Amino acid sequence: MSQRLTLLGATGSIGRSTLDVVARHPELFSLFALTAHHSIDRLYQQCLAFRPQVAVVASAGEAAQLSRRLKARGCNTEVLYGPDALVAVAAASQCDTVVAAIVGGAGLPSTLAAAQSGKRVLLANKEALVMSGALFMRCVTRARAQLLPVDSEHNAIFQCLSNHPGVRPERLLLTASGGPFLNRSLDTLDSVTPDEACAHPKWRMGRKISVDCASMMNKGLEVIEAHWLFAMSPERIEVLIHPQSIVHSMVVYADQSVLAQLGNPDMRTPIAQALAYPQRIDSGVERLDLTQSEPLSFAQADLRRFPCLGLALDVARDGCELSVVLNAANEVAVAAFLAGVLAFTDIARIVGETLSQTRSVAIDNLEGIQQTDCLARIRARQLAGLPPLSE
Ligand code: NAD
Ligand code: MG
Repeated sequence: MSQRLTLLGATGSIGRSTLDVVARHPELFSLFALTAHHSIDRLYQQCLAFRPQVAVVASAGEAAQLSRRLKARGCNTEVLYGPDALVAVAAASQCDTVVAAIVGGAGLPSTLAAAQSGKRVLLANKEALVMSGALFMRCVTRARAQLLPVDSEHNAIFQCLSNHPGVRPERLLLTASGGPFLNRSLDTLDSVTPDEACAHPKWRMGRKISVDCASMMNKGLEVIEAHWLFAMSPERIEVLIHPQSIVHSMVVYADQSVLAQLGNPDMRTPIAQALAYPQRIDSGVERLDLTQSEPLSFAQADLRRFPCLGLALDVARDGCELSVVLNAANEVAVAAFLAGVLAFTDIARIVGETLSQTRSVAIDNLEGIQQTDCLARIRARQLAGLPPLSE
């Protein structure tokens, strides 16, 4: 029987790569729901190609428009809108698998709902796990959901660990490309443009995660993500700069065996691995020719160049209680940088100041997490000199 999918964030980079893999295997997958925020034209094309039962967009106006256009083409997809509809399609009994590929904290309620409903959850939306950590993992266990990491590093670790079920590794080695500013002179970082920050040397991704890669906040979020996914203390998770992005991460065992997963930097590999697990399917990714790749190199990350990584590591080592604040302040600062309102170097400053003005609180429910997230966003906006958000 084919897997029935809900794809949250269908129009984004991960969403499109997922549909590319799905389209190669029509006998294995069908679409129950596709969701987008404002990319209505792209969602319209996707609905015509994949004929989901339901589509979700941000507003009533966009829903009415999309529904009208689809009907005119003989497509009967039901179009819903708003955050509650995202939760509903993530929890719906008509789907078995939820691909969580919304960017940022906006994806938390729907991703959590998928876990609470015992779905097979393919997790790309790392911010959701960073924000809700213990709560999310508890929901997975209680509802017997199956959590499959799509983030390439975590997918690599998952694959390495699958060979030794029940054996705990000693350490995890998370690789990082170092992004576009790995070798840029430090005194020019305050004047880099959003387009320069998004010009990642190896991966094509959405703009928010591209900036996170340039600041290496992404790797900090990934340390926290790995901590929760693999129940590994942050002290045992090492970050290694690996500019070629061929080794996607590694696992070290007590005997000092180091296991790695390699591949071309194309998200369709981890997506296909997670979609088909425990089987293997064609992903459309070009085969890796190691005789043609640049020599593989590894180095330590310089925390003076990447202060955001240092901030995230501090949060991780302090027990992750401030993860929500870290993520919220970063989302505010990255959005302001992308809008041309803040300098790149302001991102670390805003995140650092927001963290230092917040007391640790252990939060264990969605409402508490959302409240802390909201307060941190207000504080970060004030620190950045941005006007308050109007409802
Ligand atoms: P993207 O910006 O390309 O796409 C984001 C998707 O989320 C779009 O479909 C958009 O319409 C939707 N969306 C945005 N805001 C929303 C909101 N408020 N409510 C509902 N939907 C909303 O992002 P991406 O690069 O595909 O990344 C998605 C997630 O996957 C992120 O959490 C990112 O960290 C993670 N991830 C991405 C990559 C990658 O290669 N792109 C790799 C690893 C992990
Ligand atoms: Mg990653």
